[in-house]
Amino acid sequence: MTFCLVIYLCYLELELLRLRNFKYLNANSNIIFRRAARADYEFTYVILGGGVAAGYAAREFVKQGIKRGELAIISKEDVAPYERPTLSKEYLLPETHARLPYFHVCVGSGGERQFPEWYTDKGIKLILSTEIVEVELNSRDLVSASGDVFRYQTLIIATGSTPVRLTDFGVQGADAKNIFYLGEIDDADKLVEAIQEKKNGKAVIITRNYFGLEVSKAFQKNNFDVSMVFPEDWFISQWFNSVIAASYHSYYKSKGIKIFKSTRAVGFNANSSEEVKEVKLNDGTVLEADIVIVDIGIKAITSLLLGQFEQELGGIKTDAFFRTSVPDVYAVGDVATFPSKLYGNENILWVPVVDHARKSAEQAVKAIKASEEGKAIDEYDYLPHAYSRSFDLSWNFYGIRSGGEQVIFGEMDHVSPLHKFGAYWIINGKVWGTFLQNGTPEENEAMAKVARGQPRVYNLNVLKEQGLSFATNF
Ligand SMILES: Cc1cc2nc3c(=O)[nH]c(=O)nc-3n(C[C@H](O)[C@H](O)[C@H](O)COP(=O)(O)OP(=O)(O)OC[C@H]3O[C@@H](n4cnc5c(N)ncnc54)[C@H](O)[C@@H]3O)c2cc1C
Repeated sequence: MTFCLVIYLCYLELELLRLRNFKYLNANSNIIFRRAARADYEFTYVILGGGVAAGYAAREFVKQGIKRGELAIISKEDVAPYERPTLSKEYLLPETHARLPYFHVCVGSGGERQFPEWYTDKGIKLILSTEIVEVELNSRDLVSASGDVFRYQTLIIATGSTPVRLTDFGVQGADAKNIFYLGEIDDADKLVEAIQEKKNGKAVIITRNYFGLEVSKAFQKNNFDVSMVFPEDWFISQWFNSVIAASYHSYYKSKGIKIFKSTRAVGFNANSSEEVKEVKLNDGTVLEADIVIVDIGIKAITSLLLGQFEQELGGIKTDAFFRTSVPDVYAVGDVATFPSKLYGNENILWVPVVDHARKSAEQAVKAIKASEEGKAIDEYDYLPHAYSRSFDLSWNFYGIRSGGEQVIFGEMDHVSPLHKFGAYWIINGKVWGTFLQNGTPEENEAMAKVARGQPRVYNLNVLKEQGLSFATNF
């Protein structure tokens, strides 16, 4: 019996060796894989993830200077890095020009579009449709789902974030067909297909974030009857205050969109083809639905790395150069948290927005190259910045928005030709956050300058009267 067990274990071990080149160790009933005898591929730098941060990091590597074959990007998506925010906006309207290759990075920041050939020209290996399922830090190996082993000297983790799902909370019926989340281009393609198929139907948007506001345009253009459901008293309460939200409510109502506030989806009914047909709300309301979009939050993709890195706020903890707790491993974009130079290093930020993905990637690559040359670079000095566009509205937020007092200025009536308004968030007598609706690039820049400069405010009424000119004259 003992002999048979040993034979069986030997067989298992050989199987593992054959499949993955790895040697099996057993520790506390977890399977741990030790350094492969050989790696299938070796690179000086590997970027794990092929999204926004990966694309901007690649550009920075090229700027700083790399040799051909030194850098690889490994992505489970099957397309080269692109500007992800497009997915909830123009991409949902296939009649527009917003298809790939139009929105490859770095077009979103006014840079060159990095088509797949760009990577080939620069000697960067773009490894697509490849999911990494194991990260072995001791041996510096990444193992793909098909068993390929990629060895790195320096690793940049750029796995981004993923939508939080209603199925995570066991919401009844939440696995029905035509309930969508938006994270990757495949999700957006499936949604576009469903919108075409269910044209003139009913859509329910369950939202706590701004994507929910953005996607409603595609439904409205396709003649859907649209309902928006959210748990708070007003739209996206973590971004808007009640006054800004009220202006959005009236705008969305004018587009024929029905609003169900202070309520949550507690279940879904489906038809015999398992397609969603009804959304049940906690106040007893039942909404008909052919398509449901869920945008209730996101979480950093760290499951691969659990227990291997210091984490905080759900992301991988990094320093002001995006170094993790593991030597030669960096983390950037949505997956990383970092200390805030602007608000004091004791304040740790998680800022899952595109602006930070671009800038953190650049900072990490500069830090990597500087450390190789024995040089120092400045700490990351980031001013949080988020933006969104829906219908003909667009807004930019800079700085910190929570707490304190708020001053709203400008014309909030969306039918007025002067429709433009903003807000200042004041904490301890200083402006910490700014919001501007429908601003010009110069005006947005002025609002950013105020949020960074944190000027003292002596009289809130005077600030309200000054409005935008407070920023443009700052
Ligand atoms: C629909 C949508 C709309 C958005 N709109 C806005 C907006 O209007 N304004 C704004 O400021 N921000 C917006 N964002 C947020 C912004 O896009 C993100 O902050 C940014 O993309 C983060 O960049 P990243 O490189 O960290 O992650 P991502 O761009 O998400 O890229 C992560 C990449 O890693 C890959 N990956 C993950 N795990 C693995 C693995 N195990 N193996 C291989 N590859 C892996 C993924 O497939 C993906 O390619 C939006 C995001 C989405 C999803």
